[in-house]
Amino acid sequence: MKTLQVCDDAFAAELLKGRLLNEGIDAQVIHAHIEQVIPYSFGMPDLKPRVVVREEDFERAMQLLEATGDVKAEPQEIRCPYCGSQDLSYGLYDGSVKRYLTRIVAVFLSLLTMGPLGKVQGGYYCRQCKRRFSSW
Ligand SMILES: [Zn+2]
Repeated sequence: MKTLQVCDDAFAAELLKGRLLNEGIDAQVIHAHIEQVIPYSFGMPDLKPRVVVREEDFERAMQLLEATGDVKAEPQEIRCPYCGSQDLSYGLYDGSVKRYLTRIVAVFLSLLTMGPLGKVQGGYYCRQCKRRFSSW
């Protein structure tokens, strides 16, 4: 999947997704509900809702956006700073199930106590060189 557009809010992202689906383009919204999971994440541009499409649909989806004047900006190309790969996964999962579960529990506990998230941080995980990096 490739990021087509980063939206300001989940509503805008869902609208765009609906339009793409109408055109027969398989689109998904990611990070739509992250604000409910990670408080204050709206300040982090990486965590804004984004609409993603399949690689093979990307050109067509972009043309559709251009035709309707909806292109906001060039989609952000995020690359691994170590090897330059774009084969990245995003989220709390970084290849280690143990660390992933630890983070989930930490997020859960911090929500319970309304405490700060502390060390819990999402990030990118490079599937090529298996390294983690954070873009903020
Ligand atoms: Zn890498």
